[in-house]
Amino acid sequence: MMRPQIDETHDPERRSWVESANGHGDFPIQNLPLGVFSPLGGQPRGGVAIGDQILDLSLAARSSLFEGAARDGLDAAAGRTLNAFLGGAPDTRRALRQRLSALLAVGAPDRAEVETWLYPADRCQMHLPARIGDYTDFYAGIHHALNVGRLFRPDNPLLPNYKHLPIGYHGRASSVRVSGAPVVRPQGQRKAPDAEAPVFAPSQRLDIELELGVWIGQGNALGQPIAIDAADCHIAGLCLLNDWSARDLQAWEYQPLGPFLAKNFMTTISPWIVTAEALAPFRIAQPTRPDQDPAPLPYLWSQDDQGHGAYAIDLEVSIATPAMRTRGDAPFTIAQGSASNLYWTLAQLVTHHTSNGCDLHPGDLLGTGTISTPDERGVGSFLELTQGGQKPFALPDGETRTFLQDGDVVRLNARASAAGFVGIGFGDCIGRIAPSVTA
Ligand code: MN
Repeated sequence: MMRPQIDETHDPERRSWVESANGHGDFPIQNLPLGVFSPLGGQPRGGVAIGDQILDLSLAARSSLFEGAARDGLDAAAGRTLNAFLGGAPDTRRALRQRLSALLAVGAPDRAEVETWLYPADRCQMHLPARIGDYTDFYAGIHHALNVGRLFRPDNPLLPNYKHLPIGYHGRASSVRVSGAPVVRPQGQRKAPDAEAPVFAPSQRLDIELELGVWIGQGNALGQPIAIDAADCHIAGLCLLNDWSARDLQAWEYQPLGPFLAKNFMTTISPWIVTAEALAPFRIAQPTRPDQDPAPLPYLWSQDDQGHGAYAIDLEVSIATPAMRTRGDAPFTIAQGSASNLYWTLAQLVTHHTSNGCDLHPGDLLGTGTISTPDERGVGSFLELTQGGQKPFALPDGETRTFLQDGDVVRLNARASAAGFVGIGFGDCIGRIAPSVTA
């Protein structure tokens, strides 16, 4: 199988003539994530983040500086969605990356032309990077599953299927938005355990879920499962994903068919697709399964995937309340976690999803499920942090939270790192809670 390889684009010595890229926490020249943006007054088009600038791929596409596979990749990435780019052959993605990296590197002879393709990112608006045909959310963060399971079943937190198959549900693609879009507090039915009847009202238990998003590249035909050793080739890149969740609505509605209106009112993603190629240096072995855990069925198992199927990505959640923002306080970090807490690899998610013949398409989006650490320092939801809303947590200014209040701003960030390489980040995944709209 051909997973993206480390090449000269990952060279830690490579620096960009875009000065802000050098030492940039998210977007050094070793990252080059793709997104869709519009400059002031312009139409949406493909772009690449480099430092605090965005390189306009629609302008690049008019130049003669690209040929062959790089030209194919560029033409597929220059328009208002990246679906064609995601669904293209992986070597077109790699070739475009290599060409852009060379053009942006210190000493590039064509710098003067490339400079005319740059916009300051803070003057641009970001859009969804692709038309998302379908969105599926998994539950692969085992400590989240354990933490939440313990709230309801202290002695038996994991249901019997958890270690045999990646649990998931079909989410709603229509309400996925990019970072910055307001998150309107949903209304819905809830029923307290001791109440006689449900009420319809704004959610009082609005929560976050810290997840990675997986962008599907090439799809599969209906009826043709993706084998575990081929699954990596279908993953085009990653983003951050906040699966906003109304816990009170969820508790009342979820049986017997699972999450519905408690989840599908909004999902926020970070706008940049950090490509599988950019992530090549940050692939690590999947943590070894404890001896007492069942071996997965053969269709989910690959030594190669176990050896390289995980990612060295650290994750962070911060909050800024209205009072904190008024005073100009820095956002408060409430959790620091790691993608190593996923029980299933991303390849296993893809393979399981298609194992019944279900077809995936370029630009489909998967969520990993909430990623939490075993202890409370890195939990990816308020549900866990407050033990089901029982124990409010304190912010540095003395405010407390059990769940989100109107005006709160939540930010997710992530960073991939590995010894000997320049770390890369994902950019912001931000949402601000807006009051319910009552009819
Ligand atoms: Mn979720």
